[in-house]
Amino acid sequence: MATQSKSQFLNDIHSHLKRRYKPKPDRAPGRLSILEAVVYGVCHEDVTREQANQALSRFKDSFFDWNDVRVSHIDEVREALADIPDPEARAQRIRRFLRQLFEKTYGFNLDALAKKPLKEALKALQAYEAFHSDFVTATVTQLALGGHAIPVDSSTRRALDRLGVAEPDIPTLRAVLERAVPKNRGQEFIELVEELAHDTCVPGTPDCPRCELRKLCPYAHSAKEAAKAGGRSGATKPAEAPAAPAAPEKDDKKPRDAAKEHAKKPGASAPAPPPPAKKPPPRASAPPEPPKPPPTKRGGK
Ligand code: SF4
Repeated sequence: MATQSKSQFLNDIHSHLKRRYKPKPDRAPGRLSILEAVVYGVCHEDVTREQANQALSRFKDSFFDWNDVRVSHIDEVREALADIPDPEARAQRIRRFLRQLFEKTYGFNLDALAKKPLKEALKALQAYEAFHSDFVTATVTQLALGGHAIPVDSSTRRALDRLGVAEPDIPTLRAVLERAVPKNRGQEFIELVEELAHDTCVPGTPDCPRCELRKLCPYAHSAKEAAKAGGRSGATKPAEAPAAPAAPEKDDKKPRDAAKEHAKKPGASAPAPPPPAKKPPPRASAPPEPPKPPPTKRGGK
């Protein structure tokens, strides 16, 4: 997709999503200190903004200060992460960052960096292990350093990928988005994609019939075509049209590839949905069905 048309496409996605998920003014955390943005970034990856905001509030309410978090037992740090998936690993990352910060600065304040040029600040922050995560780096850039960054995690990447905005890795995808979506719309854009990723464009089988983007989504088109083709060729399959193509259930990557492949070749025959032919031998009392010798039915249309 050329840059211009990609910008236009992303703009269309933004407008559709804005209609569906009315932007809520209090959803984003607003400007944060660098330290808070690191903790928020660790909490927020593949988790909703609301959950990440709540976790950040719990850290502020349940601990005396950040030093208290640093010296607390890992179970207490984990408790602040409550309903967030993978709390142990996140708690470890947060505590490691605080320890590293304390060892380097004997304090818990990095805000002098926010006054430096962005590149310089980011270079200094790369010394911290937490910044090995592209998502955390982008979150801090966006929420604490005032730069143009669009944090992408695997949830938002999944949704964008299905929409045909696919890149080989997250940093490349992020760079593409940052070029195509202007800074003043970047935060709202990614918030809306995040809503999509946690609402209908979920792992496994997405809920395309309920999605605002289904008319412009290549994945949804492929799924529909595959369902139609399945309905035509498989005599026993009823018109369960909205069902996703066969692959999505198994793995989050394969359906993406299948949809992409299919989107590339609109004329190609649809990726076969689960072949309905395999059935256990009919019981004596089964309703009379057209006799089908299973092995020969598969290829024949
Ligand atoms: S139409 Fe389906 S695959 Fe496409 S973005 Fe919506 S939920 Fe995801």
